[in-house]
Amino acid sequence: MSWVLVCQACGTTIEPVEPHWRCPECSGELSITGLDALGASPRKGAGLWRWSDVLPVTPPSLGTILGEGDTPLAPVEIDGVTIFLKLDSQLPTGSFKDRGAAVLARYLVEHGRNRIIVDSSGNAAAAMAAYSAAVGLKCTVFVPASASPAKLLQARAVGATVVPVDGSRSDVAKAAQSAADNDERASYASHNWHPVFVEGVKTWALEVLEQLGGRAPDVAFIPTGGGSAFVGAWRGFRAENRDMPRLIACQPAACAPIVTAWESGSEIVEAEQGETIAEGARIALPSRPSQIRQALDESDGAAAAVDDASLRDTLRLLWRRGFYVEPTGALGVAVCRSWIARGAIRPGDVVVAHVTGHGMKSTSINQAVLDEADEAS
Ligand SMILES: [Zn+2]
Repeated sequence: MSWVLVCQACGTTIEPVEPHWRCPECSGELSITGLDALGASPRKGAGLWRWSDVLPVTPPSLGTILGEGDTPLAPVEIDGVTIFLKLDSQLPTGSFKDRGAAVLARYLVEHGRNRIIVDSSGNAAAAMAAYSAAVGLKCTVFVPASASPAKLLQARAVGATVVPVDGSRSDVAKAAQSAADNDERASYASHNWHPVFVEGVKTWALEVLEQLGGRAPDVAFIPTGGGSAFVGAWRGFRAENRDMPRLIACQPAACAPIVTAWESGSEIVEAEQGETIAEGARIALPSRPSQIRQALDESDGAAAAVDDASLRDTLRLLWRRGFYVEPTGALGVAVCRSWIARGAIRPGDVVVAHVTGHGMKSTSINQAVLDEADEAS
């Protein structure tokens, strides 16, 4: 297994000796080249580590760290169409971030780090904190002061130091980066930036291919904030060398910088900062714009937004069917429903929606969604 880091902005190629999170030459976004083709050998190992052919670290000796990987692909009929829900809400800490956190935590330990600093709107904090605890890393997480209490409690419970920061999501990231820059023993381990994180996340797509009996879906709806689930999907589907599904980046209308750029045909993604119940996608400026664009282009994909009213409606529908997911985790299904409504899903299409986070993560927002429905009835 031989791979290198490549800067998406200036093209610099870097041997993976140091655990760089962005380009040391120009601060651009990094991606990994050389881990994008699965061999034909039978899959060995457990959980997401069965895909270790295309991961930048070796599998843990016990099989998995916290039991990451192998989430269900559950079919559900909504608005007359069968949608396969990839329930990454069932990962050990309750969100898809576990895939990236498991691989990144192990990678940083292999690189001799003992302390990490991360920033998160909540789910990545919980995931990085849990995997840090499991592999013996000290973890400090910078979070927006407004993040869901359950996610922060989760990070604290597993031993992380949680630092709430007033201000925007970007302010939180800057605070974390500056803390890491000022501490020689620490590594900045941002899920939004670190190229290794996305390599772990791509295993969700590899599992979907396996669960569909080796065929690719026709279309996949993916909640998109920073873009790690979206870019991960593209890298995963590509690694199996099957037909690429149309990848749909799904954002909340109030904070949809990728959708705005996509609809205007612009290569440049401009920051947007609006309020939405999809707190995991309240990312003003995604840090992987070039890979998101490449994924949209190569998959003949699209970026699409839903307003919070539609998102609330979809949440209540999923809940009533027994799928207790958090608002961000329902973005894919909500956008999918708008496509069904305008006839954009063809009969017979195999449709997948990535469900990225569990409902227990966002109790206070869920409460408000339910109270509002009660008032309306
Ligand atoms: Zn560069």
